[in-house]
Amino acid sequence: MKVAVIGGGWAGIAAAVELTAAGVDTALFEAGRTLGGRARSVSIDGRTLDNGQHILLGAYRETLALMRRIGADPEQLLERHPLQVVDNAGFRLALPKWPAPLNVAWGLLAAKGVGWREKLATAWWMQGIKARHFRLQHDLSVAEWLDAAGQTGALRRHLWEPLCLAALNIPAERASAQVFANVLRDSLGSALREDTDLLLPRADLGGLLPQPARIWLAEHGATLRFSTRIDALETAPDHVAVAGERFAAAIIAIAPQHAGKLWPEMTASYEFEPIATVYLQFGPQFRLPFPLFKQTGKYGQWAVDRGDGLIGCVLSGHGDWEALADEELAVALQAELPASGPATWHRVIREKRATFSCQPGIPRPACVTSHPRVLLAGDYTWADYPATLEGAVRSGKRAAHVLRSTSNTEKKLASTI
Ligand SMILES: Cc1cc2nc3c(=O)[nH]c(=O)nc-3n(C[C@H](O)[C@H](O)[C@H](O)COP(=O)(O)OP(=O)(O)OC[C@H]3O[C@@H](n4cnc5c(N)ncnc54)[C@H](O)[C@@H]3O)c2cc1C
Repeated sequence: MKVAVIGGGWAGIAAAVELTAAGVDTALFEAGRTLGGRARSVSIDGRTLDNGQHILLGAYRETLALMRRIGADPEQLLERHPLQVVDNAGFRLALPKWPAPLNVAWGLLAAKGVGWREKLATAWWMQGIKARHFRLQHDLSVAEWLDAAGQTGALRRHLWEPLCLAALNIPAERASAQVFANVLRDSLGSALREDTDLLLPRADLGGLLPQPARIWLAEHGATLRFSTRIDALETAPDHVAVAGERFAAAIIAIAPQHAGKLWPEMTASYEFEPIATVYLQFGPQFRLPFPLFKQTGKYGQWAVDRGDGLIGCVLSGHGDWEALADEELAVALQAELPASGPATWHRVIREKRATFSCQPGIPRPACVTSHPRVLLAGDYTWADYPATLEGAVRSGKRAAHVLRSTSNTEKKLASTI
């Protein structure tokens, strides 16, 4: 059968690879000129940079598996570090390379800048969440969740709130506690030490998945149609027409603000959160104390050491930083880094709709729709996770599986096209 995948972000790539690997004749339609969507490479001032600094977790199993499948070796392309949260306000939490959960227990108990009473209360609280399998009775904000648990001290300011902002791209006051708990379940709460690791890209984002996927898909017979925005789908009982061509089925793997136009049944509407990445170039010898450094000034959140003196400062979610002009932002963030001199070059990339706003209880549409030949994929459809690469990849893989494994439908589809 012939299947159309609409959208070449990480969800669309995952769906297209899964289908192509299963021998399905796949056509991928992408509005832009490259694959990658919100996680792609961009060319600026002769440099290849990411449209936004991305951080992966060891728990991103499907993303890592997808990279391996298409010949992009995660061991080469990603730098693996046991989790550390270090800042210049005296806080340090570093997980040793011990088996889980000993690594987390020791990391917590040995944390600097936190009193013993708080450490023990937090260990007790985490044990309780684990015993309840990270399920909350009802969704509430992360701030309310932490308040109710008495998590009001240094660990909240230096660990939980910054982790929430980094993982969900929204401040604790507005973030979904259940989704944050899910992220903790699969990372700090995992029985595998590797899942708690941080994975920082050594290559640009395009090199992690989009470019090798483009080659792999072409080599395996998939059709890639770039600069092709799909404005409408025509559905019939026996086919879906995309760009005038008949397909047995279509997977819509585009961001929710676009998906609603293409598939009006997708009525869930979202608010969005921005992300700015401020690239600062210092001398080649400049290094951060740890490749992921927690900034503690007025604006800074996280800074990533990209090597050769290039630092990517990440500003997540709505905040005061949005009112600053690029130049002001670059100057403000430089001052919050432990650098000895000014940056020689900077560039600010703002993604206004970087992620859907992961608030408590927001609707997350299912992968299946009322039409058996139309499926949805994309980070917003993977209800367990916030907007992440892993959510996108899992959603794309699931859509491909559902399409193939609905055996009755599959037989009908195969016999009609
Ligand atoms: C700056 C930034 C930083 C981030 N940091 C992290 C991070 O550190 N860790 C992490 O895990 N996640 C991070 N994310 C989130 C992650 O990038 C997204 O969750 C993920 O890329 C979403 O993938 P997707 O395939 O669901 O959607 P998209 O990437 O939005 O892909 C949709 C694709 O569909 C195309 N398209 C849209 N409409 C049409 C149409 N009508 N016809 C054809 N094509 C169409 C688009 O051009 C796009 O290529 C970040 C995102 C941003 C923007």
